[in-house]
Amino acid sequence: MNQHTLPNAVATAVTWIKEALGPKGWLEDAADTLKYRTDWRGRDVGEAVLVARPATTEEVAAVVRICAEAGLAVVPQGGNTGLVLGSIPTDERPTVVLSLDRMTRIRSVDPDNMALVAEAGCVVKAVQEAASAADRLFPLSLASEGSATIGGTLSTNAGGNQTIRYGNAREQVLGLEVVLPDGSVFDGLNTLRKNNTGYDLKHLFIGAEGTLGVITAAALRLMPAPRARETALLAVPDPAAAQALLGRARELSGDTVLAFELMPRMCLDLAIRHIEGVADPLPAPSPWYALIELATASPIDDLRTKLEAILAEAMEAGRVGDGVIAESETQRAALWRIREEQAEAGRREGGGVSSDVSVPVSRVADFLGAGRSAAARTRAGDPPEHLRPHGRRQHPLPDPAPARHGWRRLEAPQFRAGRRPERPGRRHGRQLLGRARHRRAEAPGPGALRRAVASDADARGQGSHRPAGGDEPGQDPVTPATPRR
Ligand SMILES: Cc1cc2nc3c(=O)[nH]c(=O)nc-3n(C[C@H](O)[C@H](O)[C@H](O)COP(=O)(O)OP(=O)(O)OC[C@H]3O[C@@H](n4cnc5c(N)ncnc54)[C@H](O)[C@@H]3O)c2cc1C
Repeated sequence: MNQHTLPNAVATAVTWIKEALGPKGWLEDAADTLKYRTDWRGRDVGEAVLVARPATTEEVAAVVRICAEAGLAVVPQGGNTGLVLGSIPTDERPTVVLSLDRMTRIRSVDPDNMALVAEAGCVVKAVQEAASAADRLFPLSLASEGSATIGGTLSTNAGGNQTIRYGNAREQVLGLEVVLPDGSVFDGLNTLRKNNTGYDLKHLFIGAEGTLGVITAAALRLMPAPRARETALLAVPDPAAAQALLGRARELSGDTVLAFELMPRMCLDLAIRHIEGVADPLPAPSPWYALIELATASPIDDLRTKLEAILAEAMEAGRVGDGVIAESETQRAALWRIREEQAEAGRREGGGVSSDVSVPVSRVADFLGAGRSAAARTRAGDPPEHLRPHGRRQHPLPDPAPARHGWRRLEAPQFRAGRRPERPGRRHGRQLLGRARHRRAEAPGPGALRRAVASDADARGQGSHRPAGGDEPGQDPVTPATPRR
């Protein structure tokens, strides 16, 4: 019989974890652990024998080691904002939720070398603020940044709304510290940009959703802080026009486009319906909108002139029908709220089917066209733009007119101056440490490699102490697991 099925083995492991963490380091009561077991949308609740809340890397290592020896599953958890049930336990195996919410230290900020080291439980916003205090930018930005953690965003390789300029979470990482499934510590907190010593092992853990180890700290890349931003919400007739607008904006602005978000009217309606203070800044509805932001770190770059030139050309070409430019930080924030409150508005609307699909920019319009046709065929009678079906149907909209006051609208004279995507993107999955359960359609090569890596992690998770690192002569970043007692 498997050791983990024995209740006394589980009970013993739980006792050891409690001893290792002290009274502040764990929660057991069902009411206390509920928020750690419930998904962000509040629809799924899992079971956990314990919520462990270690405060140090050594404590994380102790928990993982004890769990590995007792056959307990471990679900690492950051801010629990993941929308695909990856951060809550399943009911199929006794599980410890390992929350990083006490590991919130910024270990160092190094503006000269454009680097910052943060513990995994730091929320993204805290890292942005620490960078900003040193006149630097941490460029990962997403609507959940007040709750999502560095560990969670790296483990999901999150994107966010500045991906177009700075790339995904993976591209912000210089080094990682990770507790491996046997409780050993991979110490790869390198802050050097140039590091050509063999395999770049940190990339194995980024996007691995906790299947290969628990990220405990990260060395992150910083950028020069932006000196100016220009933001506009534009009414566009269709995705093809938005796609063309983005291409021209990148060219004309000298690639200073920081963000570009395409939204159907449904997104505006959802935000207006459910989020207090959100209003339509334009007098007439448009089928599609583009939220565009330019940013520059140069104090002598005139972004307003660039933006106006881009919009003048777009209006003359019929790619933009109407729009507003934010004249203050308050107006900029109001425009961004329409985009950033989408997840919350969707939650309040009712059940939703989320997808995380990546397609090349040049194929977005084709992809949306194909998707809307498919949706129209399968959901006869619904408007075709309902790619994301929701549980409840339309409600009357409040009159947005009063809140429109104060916006600077674009007026045309003011600005004289079908195929399928190549490859579907990712979908997150629920997982347990040391037991990868991603199901992806992949070519045999990468799939086999992934299975080999995951099964090696499985083996080590069952107590083997074979270190995973040390690939280069004289370089062994893995601290072997120490015996528990
Ligand atoms: C309002 C809202 C907006 C969002 N916007 C975006 C967006 O623009 N782009 C985007 O990509 N996602 C977005 N998300 C999804 C989510 O915020 C991100 O995926 C985020 O990266 C999750 O971080 P977290 O700390 O909450 O992780 P969690 O939800 O706690 O965990 C996510 C996954 O990572 C694992 N994990 C967590 N911490 C660790 C760790 N330290 N070590 C190893 N594994 C770990 C968990 O086991 C789980 O599999 C959004 C979510 C919300 C609610």
